[in-house]
Amino acid sequence: MAQKVGVATDLGIPLSQNVVDDGQRVLPPVIRSGLAGLQMDVEKDIATILKEDGRVVPSEIDSIILSHWHADHIGDPSTFPSHVELVVGSGFKDAFLPGYPADPNGVILESDYAGRPLREIDFAAGLEIGGFHAMDFFGDGSFYLLDSPGHAIGHMCALARTTPSTFIFMGADGCHHCGSLRPSKYLPLPRELSPSPFSVPPYLQGTICPGSVLEAIHPSHSRVEPYYSRLAPAPSHNVPVAEATIGKMIPFDASEDVFVIIAHDSSLLDVIDFFPGRVNEWKKNGWKEAGRWRFLEDFKGAVARDSN
Ligand SMILES: [Zn+2]
Repeated sequence: MAQKVGVATDLGIPLSQNVVDDGQRVLPPVIRSGLAGLQMDVEKDIATILKEDGRVVPSEIDSIILSHWHADHIGDPSTFPSHVELVVGSGFKDAFLPGYPADPNGVILESDYAGRPLREIDFAAGLEIGGFHAMDFFGDGSFYLLDSPGHAIGHMCALARTTPSTFIFMGADGCHHCGSLRPSKYLPLPRELSPSPFSVPPYLQGTICPGSVLEAIHPSHSRVEPYYSRLAPAPSHNVPVAEATIGKMIPFDASEDVFVIIAHDSSLLDVIDFFPGRVNEWKKNGWKEAGRWRFLEDFKGAVARDSN
């Protein structure tokens, strides 16, 4: 069993005891050309961040867990010592090996896994959590990997126990905007929101946004269906499977003991602490409630249009 030692995610949040998604790196040519014109700036890789912080050094890490193979999540495993295993989801080896340059069109690099154990998770053992095939990574209930395909082959989410009764659901790219999760039949739109996400500046103390405004800008004017109920067609994704994954995430998102954090959710940047801070006390700190409706600020253009 992996020793519990290191911490980090691609969100920069210290959650589990291993590294989950370690940032960005040099990219295979096929990915570089696909990103033409898109700039991705990463100041430091995770290994450097860990070294600088000093509390957990790369030599004490046992596993790097990739939520999926995409360039903005895979980081540079070669910056970690060779004893560190690379953990990937179902179907990864068949789909992505060998990497570049052995395969000139490879989407990962051979150096990502060369000389280190590459472990593909087998979810066939039968454990299921909230409809997801699951794997108890440490065998002690502290950290579960969840098979959550659709966005990418082998995509995994994770459920990290933060206190005996609370969890953080690490959603990775299970969805990209909280409007895919909220509202829901478990978590309807509020009757009013204060402070308002649409005040100028946003969240001005004392301002109120009536629930009728939130319903007016909803595509189907619903209080109980997510703003984004369907994903856009995407040839490289399995859209129906990705939508099924989101459907399973919604009850987690509605649970008061589970804090769902998706990798690209910028609405939480001002709400939660990042590495080297700790997130175990998210519930006591009220972060979930504080961040729950912050994504609505992205719809301020729709509110402005409606009011003109
Ligand atoms: Zn992705």
